[in-house]
Amino acid sequence: MIDGKTQIYGLIGDPVEHSLSPLIQNSLAEMHGKNMVYLPMRVLEEDLEGAICGAHKLHINGLNVTAPHKEKVMKYLSEIDQTAKEIGAVNTLLWTEDGYKGFNTDIYGLERAFESDGFEVSGKDIILIGAGGAARAVGVLLARLKASHIYILNRTKANANELSRRIIELYPYTEITVLGLDEFRNIPDFMTKKFNVIQASSVGLEKRDEAPILDDEFYNHVAKGYDLIYNPLETLFMRKVKANEGEAYNGMHMLLSQALGSFEIWHNGVGNEE
Ligand code: NAP
Repeated sequence: MIDGKTQIYGLIGDPVEHSLSPLIQNSLAEMHGKNMVYLPMRVLEEDLEGAICGAHKLHINGLNVTAPHKEKVMKYLSEIDQTAKEIGAVNTLLWTEDGYKGFNTDIYGLERAFESDGFEVSGKDIILIGAGGAARAVGVLLARLKASHIYILNRTKANANELSRRIIELYPYTEITVLGLDEFRNIPDFMTKKFNVIQASSVGLEKRDEAPILDDEFYNHVAKGYDLIYNPLETLFMRKVKANEGEAYNGMHMLLSQALGSFEIWHNGVGNEE
C-alpha cells in the first residue's frame, strides 16, 4: 500500500524498460516489509544533472544508475566511496543532506557470485575478456583477490591497455598482459593449461549465437567460464565452455547480488565504507 510515508527509489538510465531491477527491488521490499516503491526512470544524457538535482530536492531516497550514466553521474554527487572511485563508476546513489553519495555494488555482487559459485581467483591465472565498464569492476576485484596473472583479451587493445594501467596504478603488484581476442595462443603454456575465464564483453547480449571468441581451441582450455551476461541465460560462450567439459555460469547471480548490495546500502548502511 502506498501512503504518506512511502519512500521512493528508482533506476535512472537510457534505456530502462528492459531492466529487472524494479522487479528485484520491489520483491526485496515486500520480503523485508519496507514501505517503498522502486520505479524505472528514463533520463537522457543531456538531462542528467537536472535529474540528479531534482531527485535530491524531491527527496528520492536512493537510485540505481545504469548505462550510459554510470561514469558521468559521478560529477553530480556530494561524495563517492573508495571502491566506486577505484572502478571509476557508480551504480548506487544514497540520499544524504548534502547530496547523493555514490557506490559501486557491481564488484560486491561479483565477489558474492564468485564465492557462492566456487569460482576461484586467488593465486590463479585468469583470462578476462573485455575492457569496458563491467570489466573495470572485474579487473579491480581480480587484483584485490590477488589473481596470479590477469590476461586481458579485448577487441581494442588500447582500451585493454588503459584498463591495465588503471589496475596497476591502484594495485602495483598485479601482473597483467594485454592481448587481442585472437591472440590467446600467446599466453605462456596455454596449450598445456586450463584457465578460469570471465567474459565481460557485451558480445552475446540478447543474441544466442554470438561470442567474443569462436575458436574451439580456446574453449578446450577453459576450466570455468563466467559470463556476466544474463540475457540469454545461456550464451554461446557458456555453451562452448560446457561442450569442452568446462563449467559455465551466467551473470544472474551477480545481478541479484549487486541488487542486494544496493538494497543493503539503502536500508542498513552496509557497504558504506567511509
Ligand atoms: P561496455 O562498457 O560497452 O563494454 C563493452 C565491451 O565489449 C568492450 O570491451 C568492447 O570492446 C566489447 N565489445 C563490444 N562489441 C564487441 C564486438 N562486436 N566484438 C568484440 N568485442 C566487443 O559494456 P559494459 O557495461 O562493460 O557491459 C558488458 C557486459 O556486461 C554487458 O553484456 C552487460 O550486460 C554485462 N553486465 C552484467 C552485469 C550483471 O550484473 N550481471 C553488470 C554489468 C554489466 P572494445 O573495447 O573493443 O569496444
